[in-house]
Amino acid sequence: MKGTIHIAGERCKGCALCIESCPRDCLSLSEELNLKGYFVAAFDESKGCNACRNCALMCPDACIEVSKG
Ligand code: SF4
Ligand code: SF4
Repeated sequence: MKGTIHIAGERCKGCALCIESCPRDCLSLSEELNLKGYFVAAFDESKGCNACRNCALMCPDACIEVSKG
């Protein structure tokens, strides 16, 4: 199964829990700061997201939405 995600960057706290939870290494911390002053998580679609939803379940601030396909 293939997937993609959307990250609500303005709510992200840069805690990296989503990064550690991804089995495909799709996530990393970017160099982009949000308005709160946190480096936000970024998604790399080339890594082959499988829509497992680990990242969305781990995020304490519900920043991540996962879509299939
Ligand atoms: S849905 Fe799964 S594979 Fe896709 S980015 Fe999130 S943790 Fe990684
Ligand atoms: S788990 Fe949520 S708050 Fe933490 S870095 Fe990932 S998207 Fe941001």
